[in-house]
Amino acid sequence: MLEPIKLNAVTDKDLRSILEQFDLRQSFETGTLSCACCDTILGWNNLGAVVVNGSKLELFCEKPECITAAGERGSEIASESHSLASVG
Ligand SMILES: [Zn+2]
Repeated sequence: MLEPIKLNAVTDKDLRSILEQFDLRQSFETGTLSCACCDTILGWNNLGAVVVNGSKLELFCEKPECITAAGERGSEIASESHSLASVG
């Protein structure tokens, strides 16, 4: 699944399990993860969006421009995965 996940579409519980899946929950909770767009340190209070990029999770803060960047990143990844799929 390479779809962007907007936080307004997932519950905190889903988010916790996504972070656990990518082994990032501890880093997230100790404040060592930052926004992929503006480098703001992320926490439960300012996490805006997450984008799954293959085996990586990209996290974005709640600023409107970063949410927009997350959406664009998600479509970019989706189109990359289409071209990869067509190459085989
Ligand atoms: Zn940001």
